[in-house]
Amino acid sequence: MDDDVLSFYDWQPGDCFKCAHRNVPTTPVSRVTAQCGKTHIVRACQRCLREMEAQRKRAAERRGERYEPGQLGT
Ligand SMILES: [Zn+2]
Repeated sequence: MDDDVLSFYDWQPGDCFKCAHRNVPTTPVSRVTAQCGKTHIVRACQRCLREMEAQRKRAAERRGERYEPGQLGT
């Protein structure tokens, strides 16, 4: 069941913004546009993505909302 959340995302080798692991499977979770107009894509590894989704799930349950996995980075 836990693995399902990962299947919502596309994985490519990269650096995780959270745990600083390098060259691991990562997925884009957000985008930051710098003042110069350059867009930097923020990527997270599978372990951190799982944590972020677990947090979203808890937050949704607290608010009484339905949790939908796969919404990060969209
Ligand atoms: Zn990570």
